[in-house]
Amino acid sequence: MVAGLDEKLEPIFQEVLRRNAGETEFHQAVREVLETLGPVLVKYPEFAEYKVIQRICEPERQIIFRVPWQDDQGRVHINRAFRVEFNSALGPYKGGMRFHPSVYLGIIKFLGFEQIFKNALTGLPIGGGKGGSDFDPKGKSDSEIMRFCQSLMTELYRHIGEHTDVPAGDIGVGQREIGYLFGQYKRITNRYESGVFTGKGLNWGGSRARTEATGYGTVFFLDEMLKVRGDALDGKTCVVSGSGNVAIYATEKATSLGAKVIACSDSNGVIVDQDGIDLDLLKQIKEIERRRVSAYAQQKKGATYLEDGNIWTIPCQVALPCATQNELTGKDAQLLVQQGCIAVAEGANMPTTPEGIRVFQEAGIAYGPGKAANAGGVATSALEMQQNASRDSWTFDYTEQRLQEIMVNIHRNCYETSAEFGAEGNYVVGANIAGFLKVSQAMVALGL
Ligand code: GLU
Repeated sequence: MVAGLDEKLEPIFQEVLRRNAGETEFHQAVREVLETLGPVLVKYPEFAEYKVIQRICEPERQIIFRVPWQDDQGRVHINRAFRVEFNSALGPYKGGMRFHPSVYLGIIKFLGFEQIFKNALTGLPIGGGKGGSDFDPKGKSDSEIMRFCQSLMTELYRHIGEHTDVPAGDIGVGQREIGYLFGQYKRITNRYESGVFTGKGLNWGGSRARTEATGYGTVFFLDEMLKVRGDALDGKTCVVSGSGNVAIYATEKATSLGAKVIACSDSNGVIVDQDGIDLDLLKQIKEIERRRVSAYAQQKKGATYLEDGNIWTIPCQVALPCATQNELTGKDAQLLVQQGCIAVAEGANMPTTPEGIRVFQEAGIAYGPGKAANAGGVATSALEMQQNASRDSWTFDYTEQRLQEIMVNIHRNCYETSAEFGAEGNYVVGANIAGFLKVSQAMVALGL
């Protein structure tokens, strides 16, 4: 990270480093936001007076707890789980739960911090939070997953609620896990409180288009960035990293808008299919059989599997990082640009390293950071909360139309804010400042 910090912001960042030692992903997320806030302090000196930035960087509450569970052989395991309730100025804490062995406090804090700005950008009444566990769902049986989720909720239930904190899914947490978590919440509290969790199944309080929302929303945002440049997605070659929920539905929407998605991946390797990814086959392998993407190459003629391959070496015009944090480095970004990439929209949270972001910005390509581009997921979670509150259930078309309007508005807000602060078309500046202003103004209004 080379960009310097404003002299008022440097001490704030040093304090974040000191108070959160070793939490490198959190440092990275904070630094990226602080790097863009200099001009805001000039325009709004009251934010410095009220120490709004220092307050935003310190979670309102952090919960760390033990999750004991028994595997199918009767062996006992202990995992650690987290819920970081970061900021509730705009509404109940809102953000997913991640189950992955890499999870520790620094990852949950970076995700919770991003969530504050992302949720503010949606324009809907949701604060920022995030949770998760270092539990590894890979290779676990259905009953093991259920027992783990029940044990986790036996502690978490006392901290959440439809007006307090509303979790959802993230990496390793899909509809199956949400079912087990919500079911245990319902049992313990004796309340069918649908609005306490989002990402639920359709016949138990879920919203249509929630599964598709993050991926679709990322492509709607991409489409808006291209329109500004007088371009369109039709005919473009795309590469989408990952093969989870976000990647699958980004591929689906990009394909329906005329793009050809030629590659996807998982943590073991990369699939390349120059005919365009066969979505029915990918969904069958990932959503139904819960297998690795390598199975795709075994079943699809002409597709190749690159074990341990780097997806960013595959030439494309549009890159959609939809896997995980820091998956796209400065070197990857350089190669993408050299090979003709003109647009990047992030379906994942913070997938591009600071060096990578700089490469994209210096090359002048369209770059949509995750906190704006992937906000469609949490926005549709807020629409799920609306449906739960009114005991209603909307059609797919209506929900998707609301999602698209929200993404168009987020894009416009980011673009206009970037122009207002002298960095037209820089969506990092636009997203950070627009999200920050919304939260900060509410924080000031609500007092200390
Ligand atoms: N985990 C998703 C995100 O990163 C969705 C959160 C939610 O729906 O609450 O935004």
